[in-house]
Amino acid sequence: MSGDGETANPLFERLAIIGMGLIGSSLARAAARHGLARSIVGCARSQATRAKALELGLAEAMFEDPGEAAEGADLVMLCTPLSAYAEVAEAMGPHLAPGTIVSDVGSVKQATIRDVGPQLPDGVHLVPGHPVAGTEHSGPEAGFAELFDDRWCILTPPPGTDGEAIEKVSAMWRACGSTIEFMEPAHHDKVLAITSHLPHLIAYTIVGTATNLEESERAEVVKFSASGFRDFTRIAASDPIMWRDIFLNNREAVLEMLQRFNEDITALQRAIRWGEGEVLETLFRRTREIRAGVIEAHQAGTFDTREREKFGPEETAPEKARPREE
Ligand code: NAP
Repeated sequence: MSGDGETANPLFERLAIIGMGLIGSSLARAAARHGLARSIVGCARSQATRAKALELGLAEAMFEDPGEAAEGADLVMLCTPLSAYAEVAEAMGPHLAPGTIVSDVGSVKQATIRDVGPQLPDGVHLVPGHPVAGTEHSGPEAGFAELFDDRWCILTPPPGTDGEAIEKVSAMWRACGSTIEFMEPAHHDKVLAITSHLPHLIAYTIVGTATNLEESERAEVVKFSASGFRDFTRIAASDPIMWRDIFLNNREAVLEMLQRFNEDITALQRAIRWGEGEVLETLFRRTREIRAGVIEAHQAGTFDTREREKFGPEETAPEKARPREE
């Protein structure tokens, strides 16, 4: 495995990455670049992904069985969709030696603890995590080593988790360029419900609504999508399985945020109906300030309309130019 990092004293002897998609392959690339593990092995369901991962040099061995991949690893990173967690953890359990650290990248943290925790033998340390970084693309070719640069990684270790295990997982993410934040799992799920999950739900809805309109009324939705709609279509292109799993596994928090959103949008509907311009303007001024705060916090990404001219139609470079939360 090639990399520009210090391999003389890596954090881990053997890193097993279960799931070699966008996030798993980005982690493999970052770990290799920064010399974080003496060896990296992986696991994926399909032969096609396993072959692609080997071809790309992401791992020195790829397995179909999560248990075989996890055997002998001192860090196992779960990077599959949430719906695979319970099954994968059950398959891995008997292969994990005491002292092994199991962590993950899943977008909902109470679900990780619920589905993975009970499958782990005594002495195995569970350190759930969520790198707040991603793109709308999937699969091993979509990943890149810089994905986690300048992004947050939220860790939600349950009370009593081994301190050294937490520190090693933290050190790995810091080496990948991320800043660590600790949260209670339920708090994480609430925060992400409003910052990530609800915006995706709105994007999926609006693109669906516009598509239905286009079909029924021949509206020029795609033709004029350079306006606000364009950003919604990008978000709504995100992986269907991953997002299905997020909504099913963060149901309570998403429903609570949706309830609040419905109340607020009803208030706006009323303001528009009654011509209450001041209500609209006050809100829009407030939200503009929030956007300024996001930019100031270096979490804005870019939405540069010249991207295609700058980077060409294949859109390879823009992914690096506009990392964003999933
Ligand atoms: P992805 O690109 O679709 O990759 C998923 C990987 O998991 C694929 O390699 C897939 O193998 C493998 N997999 C699925 N089921 C499996 C099973 N039962 N056993 C073994 N491997 C299995 O997904 P991703 O975008 O990297 O997302 C992975 C996780 O990261 C999710 O839990 C998500 O919540 C979290 N996350 C995603 C983002 C984002 O923006 N995408 C950001 C932060 C966190 P095959 O290819 O063979 O099917």
